[in-house]
Amino acid sequence: MNSFTPDYTILMGPGPSNVHPRVLNAMSKPIIGHLDPAFVGLMDEIKSLLRYAFQTENQLTFPVSAPGSAGMETCFVNLVEPGDKVIVCQNGVFGGRMKENVERSGGIAIMVEDRWGEAISLAKVEQALAEHSDAKILAFVHAETSTGVRSDAEGLARLAQLHDCLTLMDCVTSLGGIPVLVDEWGIDAAYSGTQKCLSCPPGLSPVTFSERAVSKIRERRTKVQSWFLDVSMVMNYWAEGQTARSYHHTAPINAMYALHESLVLLKEEGLEQAWARHAHTHSQLREGLEALGFEYLVTPDNRLPQLNAVRIPDPLKAEEAALRTRLLKDEKFEIGGGLGALAGEIWRIGLMGHGASQGHVDACLKHLRALV
Ligand code: PLP
Repeated sequence: MNSFTPDYTILMGPGPSNVHPRVLNAMSKPIIGHLDPAFVGLMDEIKSLLRYAFQTENQLTFPVSAPGSAGMETCFVNLVEPGDKVIVCQNGVFGGRMKENVERSGGIAIMVEDRWGEAISLAKVEQALAEHSDAKILAFVHAETSTGVRSDAEGLARLAQLHDCLTLMDCVTSLGGIPVLVDEWGIDAAYSGTQKCLSCPPGLSPVTFSERAVSKIRERRTKVQSWFLDVSMVMNYWAEGQTARSYHHTAPINAMYALHESLVLLKEEGLEQAWARHAHTHSQLREGLEALGFEYLVTPDNRLPQLNAVRIPDPLKAEEAALRTRLLKDEKFEIGGGLGALAGEIWRIGLMGHGASQGHVDACLKHLRALV
């Protein structure tokens, strides 16, 4: 056995995306204890930087020590009590996982379904809210990674507020790539991931909870069924100021260095500039792809700049998986295939975080031009 040294690969799939060299470098810094005052200071900075990324003043904002799925689970297990009705929007893979989470938390999922490739219909959600006036939460995915669709998070949150429902939003693929305005939109719970538009390796899940969400958690009649994800305990570990800190688990220390550096990079660039960079590289890629004859799955108004879902041209469909494998093996270039009914029908091309660059646009167009 030798040390593992993978080749550098251009990652233009649905995530993980390429990591900024400064972030990789941060990970190799000396390890310190997780209750070392220096680390506690780093945790405070991470919380403050995450508030910036989420555009929120929420006190309860921190990274869960596990990937995006754990952030999802953290939101559901804490907010859903047995018997609670939750309206779940599904227009792709991840809405389906939300349903699982509701049911495993003992809740009742009321599904509002839209076709994969389309945005969540506000009219259908309004109807579901009117029909289920006892619903406690509206849950939806802002940026569906399986289809490249952006839904109207602000409109959905407004509807939920009109019906006195909490909102629970998945922003794994949106955070850092397109506007995510937690306070302005009135989102009560949101979770994200580090491996998409934050230019950081996978393994952590930033979450944020509003005061209304924290009140619902404090008023729970039943214990949260997950010990590890129970925020009432994690809260003490991530509490502001050094004296209040108590041990909950051993934080993934070097992964936190990476998250901190990626958030410093985001702050240095500025959120608006990061969103503009994603939008600009997307339009460069779109022009090139359309010139090669590729068609987008999603209509322009609902398209995510960071996840370009394009239909595979008919002559390439039969061998599409083999083509992607060859690109990966010979060219060290990765794009993603479709999921579910879209498997074999679309390719998913990511322009995320550090990878939302002219160099990645050019590499992608070069490799796809050679195929068509
Ligand atoms: N939600 C969305 C929209 C995602 O795209 C993903 C991962 O791709 C997840 C949740 C789950 O995140 P993770 O794979 O980090 O657990």
